Amino acid sequence: MNLIDFAEISKGLDMLDKIKLILFASKAKPATFVKLRINPKSLGEKYQFDQVLKKEGVIFIAGRDKSYEVIRSINGNRVRWEFEGVWIGYDLFWTKKDRERFLQYSRLIGKQPKKAHLIAGRLYGYPECCIRQYVRETPEYIKKHYSCYEYYSKIQEGDQKYPYVFHQPCKVDCKATAALNKKYESVVKKKSKKIWRAFRLKSEYAMDLIIDSYSDITIDGKTIWPEKDGFDYAVITKGKIDGYYQLISFVTKRYFERGTVFRGRVLKQYHYAKIKVDRIKDVIVGLHHERKHPLIGREY
Ligand SMILES: [Zn+2]
Repeated sequence: MNLIDFAEISKGLDMLDKIKLILFASKAKPATFVKLRINPKSLGEKYQFDQVLKKEGVIFIAGRDKSYEVIRSINGNRVRWEFEGVWIGYDLFWTKKDRERFLQYSRLIGKQPKKAHLIAGRLYGYPECCIRQYVRETPEYIKKHYSCYEYYSKIQEGDQKYPYVFHQPCKVDCKATAALNKKYESVVKKKSKKIWRAFRLKSEYAMDLIIDSYSDITIDGKTIWPEKDGFDYAVITKGKIDGYYQLISFVTKRYFERGTVFRGRVLKQYHYAKIKVDRIKDVIVGLHHERKHPLIGREY
């Protein structure tokens, strides 16, 4: 078994991490980070992954186990989360020099974040124009240059237009990002038709959806957009998609009260989903999440 075989059969890597692993395996990306989830469906995958990494000569740093929760039920105004398993983060490199650059990034991130992001951006092969823009975009900069809607729709458009890249494009029509996206897609298509097909597959679901909270950016605890011209809501699916209740980002100019239930459609492709509102049904008063945050996993 090689890294691409593992990406194809793994149940513990999500689709985006499979794409990253294929790009790394084919050396299109010099370094990457993937999360391996260990749950009842993927028991034994940590051992298997470690074996493949060693066999292929990959230099890797595996993090500590971290527990994670998933939504188990939605009843009335209660969204109940439950522990499902643990995930392990893997930083992967082909050379000691790249591992050194990563360690340098880790040391700098708390003290000199700008310098750290420049190192990491180059390590992961992001375009120079996008790294520079990312570093520039402090809350103060964002406040000055974008309305709320402009900011979140820029992120969403970039996400949807370039599903194969893992950085925020400096602008929606960034040429370097478009070229990289094209190159990465051709690598994945060549290395694994199976993953390439599964990733681009379109599916549509008609179901009830719930508006949860919306994203915001603050300076000293105060929003940078006291008057919002748009919102980036988290929407909860009332039905399961791929076996789970999902939280989906929904950018719109329309205002919805938290807890609004609507009949809508979810159009899924790549790692994102588009949401269409058909009709408003109801408002759930006092919508809240019940999470356990159990301390499971080893401390070492
Ligand atoms: Zn760019």
